[in-house]
Parts: sequence; structure tokens; C-alpha cells
Amino acid sequence: MKNKYGIDIWSDNNFFIEDGVVKVDYDSNPSLISIVKNVRKQGFKGPLLLRFPHITKKQIKTLFSNFNASMKEYDYKGTFNAVFPLKVNQLPNFIHPLISAGKKYNYGLEAGSKAELIIAMTYNNMGSPITINGFKDKEMIHLCFIAKSMGHDITVIIEGLNELEMIVEVLKETKLEAPNVGLRVRLHSGGSGVWAKSGGIDSKFGLTSTEILEAFELMQDNNLEDLLTMIHFHIGSAMNSIKPLKKALRESGHIYAELKNLGAKNLSSINIGGGLSVEYSSYERTRFYSLREFASDVVFTLKEIARQKGVEEPNIFTESGRFISAASTVLITPVLELFSAEYELNHLKLKEKNPPLIAELNELYKDMTKKTAYEFMHDSIDHLESLLTLFDLGYIDLQDRSNAEILTHQIIKKAISLLQIDDYEELKRFDKNIQEKYLLNFSLFQSLPDYWGINQEFPIMPITHLDEKPTRSASLWDITCDSDGEIPFDMKKPLYLHDVNLNKEDYFLGFFNVGAYQDTLGMKHNLFSHPTEVNVVFKDGEVQLEKILESQKIIDILEDIDYDTEEIQTILRRSLPLETYEVLQKYLNDNSYLKTIWSYYDDE
Ligand SMILES: *Cc1c(COP(=O)(O)O)cnc(C)c1O
Repeated sequence: MKNKYGIDIWSDNNFFIEDGVVKVDYDSNPSLISIVKNVRKQGFKGPLLLRFPHITKKQIKTLFSNFNASMKEYDYKGTFNAVFPLKVNQLPNFIHPLISAGKKYNYGLEAGSKAELIIAMTYNNMGSPITINGFKDKEMIHLCFIAKSMGHDITVIIEGLNELEMIVEVLKETKLEAPNVGLRVRLHSGGSGVWAKSGGIDSKFGLTSTEILEAFELMQDNNLEDLLTMIHFHIGSAMNSIKPLKKALRESGHIYAELKNLGAKNLSSINIGGGLSVEYSSYERTRFYSLREFASDVVFTLKEIARQKGVEEPNIFTESGRFISAASTVLITPVLELFSAEYELNHLKLKEKNPPLIAELNELYKDMTKKTAYEFMHDSIDHLESLLTLFDLGYIDLQDRSNAEILTHQIIKKAISLLQIDDYEELKRFDKNIQEKYLLNFSLFQSLPDYWGINQEFPIMPITHLDEKPTRSASLWDITCDSDGEIPFDMKKPLYLHDVNLNKEDYFLGFFNVGAYQDTLGMKHNLFSHPTEVNVVFKDGEVQLEKILESQKIIDILEDIDYDTEEIQTILRRSLPLETYEVLQKYLNDNSYLKTIWSYYDDE
């Protein structure tokens, strides 16, 4: 059976395999390699982020249609509304298409900082909701008033009583019309998943029940109770089960109903935050609910509470970000090197008379058959250990050592191809010598920070060669000088890749579902900056590459970390002959990712 890298589990029909390559399941079904070739032909080498706005659009549509269907099923009286939380991906290439796709749904934006609020004020479709979360100062509150004065439908969600006091002050000082107010409740029930901290009684965010009562009194004292429109909670990201959500819904539903009965007459909405997960696993499903189940649970639970307490059914808001954005972006990394390429047979320089163990390695290599493969491979690994010890003791020379390493790697390679790896259980008995290391032109810290920080798994697969059987158990290295820049081979979730000759052909790996959080969480370790990115759009059956944004130039990266780049250039110019300096200038104005010299696909 060919290796499909779990594409049926995680791709949600966005991608499929045909003719040995990964294709986009949309419109003219272009292959990823054809898109990559096209971008590289224009001179953009190094890692590449491909964004697919049609996938973002599909996610928005899926979210709205599932909730609307559930509301219809339960004859629900409230409306469904959603905003995109900007912290999940603020980049313009992602946000602009999201905003135009969201227009017909009245899809809005959520902001958690002043900078994000400025994006929302500028680009949000007028009339679509804006919600504001996070800790705020008086300036931030003032900005919310300004957004309101522009005509935006903005709701400030209060995290603490002091924020309410600031609203009262700004109202007095500016005489601007106040934005709507929401209260973030500190739930008794916690969340689930890695990010469960966002919910629960000891969470960083939200008001306790006492504070909620105080907040409402404070609003009444200032004749502002009519501003209160929303109850908000967020139990954390990437929920893998709905159970904690149901508890949170009941808790916040009752708070909503109690406040209505206390006289909050404009209170009309419950905002359930984000947390819808996506499938990242290539091995087994880790999300245990469908969106329709999720929606139905929300609608049903809130309907029940409204009935029980005799209040109107609340409008429902969501702030799911990961669900909307993750699948839209694919990271493509060129493979620069296979570690074992250094051990090609043509480097072997056996002597007239070789140390006995080396002579034996040579015999093992020549005589190996399918039947003896395990045994010989095992022997060769033992021999290599002994030979390395002999080298350390001064009994063999560097040429012997090189021959030993080459022969052992060749034996492993031959054994793998004789045995195939259907039966990995057997191969597992061997140590990590049998793994091939693939050096990838990217920075894990920049492009997959969640792998580094919280061991988040992402779907990984080659985008070509899929009609061939992969034979190497792979560990992946990035180009930073940091040993954490590695995705080691994991026996429980094995990744097999192809044994390619990079002198003859290119080999690219795709990392999927990287559109949520990775873009701006990434860091410039070793000063590797954001990769080149491009929006892939479809017009009249043709693929168009829009908004190619090249990875930052070295000189701009230095400027970003506050070097005086004029000074850098002056010093370098002073110390070099003009011709050399001109060459240097070219480097300064290029990005810092590695360039491959040979490129099979580009030369076609
Ligand atoms: C981060 C965040 C979200 C988005 O969460 P996802 O898990 O990406 O859906 C929504 N609301 C608030 C308040 C957040 O802090």
C-alpha cells in the first residue's frame, strides 16, 4: 500500500493525491509542485508559504451554515454571529481575503490589543461586529469609543471592574457615544486540551460572580445598564471534546438569564469564544465531534436555559480562529540535503590491506541478501561502534574511519531496500543509525513555533514522489544553529520519506494546517525571518499568484532589531574594494535563507 501520510484524516478534502503528487481539491486542481515551480521560477527560493483564500472562505461558510442549520432545526429565535480573532493571524494576505469572503455573512473581527483594534477599525466591514478582549487601559477604551464614532458595531468585553470605571471616565471626558459592553465571566468549569488554562476559576481572565453583580450595579449607578449587551467566555483553544463546553454554556447561560431578570434589558447575546479544533494528526482522529454536533449542543443548551428561566433566547456569537484559518496555509520547505549523501559509495577508498573489521564490512555489503539483511545490518552497526573506538585509541586512521562509515551506511541502505519497510516493528529493533536525516531550508522557530513550544503536531508529507514507496525513516533538521530545530523520528508516529538524489531532482516537504497562530508567533532565531508568501487564487479556471511578499532582506532584518544600517553600510564600504562591496550589497538586499544551486524543476 502506498503511503498517504494521513491525508484522508487531516485534509478535510482540501488536498488529494493523484499521479504521485499532492493536488488542490478545487477548481482546476493544480498540483502543489506546479505552484511551487511557478513561484520559484520568478526567483523566490527558500521556504514558501502558500495561502489559499478559497479554504478560508469555505471555513466561514461551513461555520455559518452549520449553526444556521442547527438553529432552524431547534426553531431557535436568536441569531448566529461570528468574528475572527485577529491574534490567530493578523497578516494582510490572510486578512484581506477573509474580510471580503465574510461580507455576506456579516462576519466581523475580534481584537485583543491596540494594534489589532486599528486593523479592525480600518478594515472591518461596516456593520459587522467587532469584539474587544484582553486587558485594557484608558487609551484602549478611548480607541473603542473612536471606533464607535466611526459607525462600527463594537462591543468592549470587560475583564475587570476597573475597565468599567475607565468607560465611565472616557464617557465623561469625551462626550463620545459609548460602545456596547460585554462581561467576560470567570467560569467555574475549566476547558480541555493543551490550552485549557483560559477557562476555570483560576483563569487569567474574567469576572467572578460577585464582580459580575458589582459590575452591573456600577453600570446602574451611572445609568449605563442599557450598554450591557453580551456575556462572554472562552474556555481555551483546540477543544478535543464538547463536554467542557456544555458545562461552560450552562454556567454562562444561567448568568445571562439572571442578569436579564435583574433588569439588563439590552442584554441579548452570549459569546462562546473560540476553541473549535482542527485535525492535525496524520495517524488517528483526535477531534471527537462534528461541527454540526457542536452547533446543536450550543443551540439546544441555550434554548433550554432560556425556556427554564423565561427569558428570550440569546443571539450566539463565536470567536473561533483556529478553525477558520489553520487549513488555509501550507508551508513548503525544500530539502537541501540527505545526511547520508556524504556516504556515497564513490567516496569509498579501500586500501590494499584493510583492518579486519573493515574487510568484513565490505564482505557484509557484498554478500547481503534479503534473508541476511537484518543480521548483517545489525553486525555492521556493531562493527562501526568498534571501529570508532579503535580510531579513538589510535589504531586506525582517518581513511579507515571514513571507509567504515561509508560501508555501514551503504549496508543500512541496502538492507532497507531489500527488506522494504512494511514491517517496521522489525526494523525498530535497530538503533537510530538507520534513520535518514533530511536538512530542510526553513527555521522551525520562525515557521512552526508551536512545534517548538508545545510539541504541536502538524501534518507533514512530500508533495511529489507519492507513487513511490518511501523507504527511509526520517528525522528533520532545520537550518538554525540550534539543536532544538529538529523534528526527530518518532516510533509512535513514524514519518517515512523517499531516498532521493538531490543532485538529480528536487524534493519538497509540505507542512499543512499552519495558518493559525504560527505566522506571528514565530521568532527570528538566528535572524531567519518570515518566509516568502503568496496567495493562490483561482480565476476562470486558472491559478493566479497574488501578492507575493518576499522574505525580508538581510539589511531590513538588521534594521528591525535596531541596528543603524547606514552605519553598517558605511563601515563595510570603507573596509572593502568597490567591486567586492557591490557584491556584498547584493547579499544585503537578499533574504537569509539558503539558496540551492542546482534546481531540477526550475530548469525545465
Ligand atoms: C484566542 C482567542 C480566541 C480564538 O481561539 P481559537 O481556539 O483559535 O478558536 C477566541 N476568543 C478569545 C477571547 C481568545 O483569546
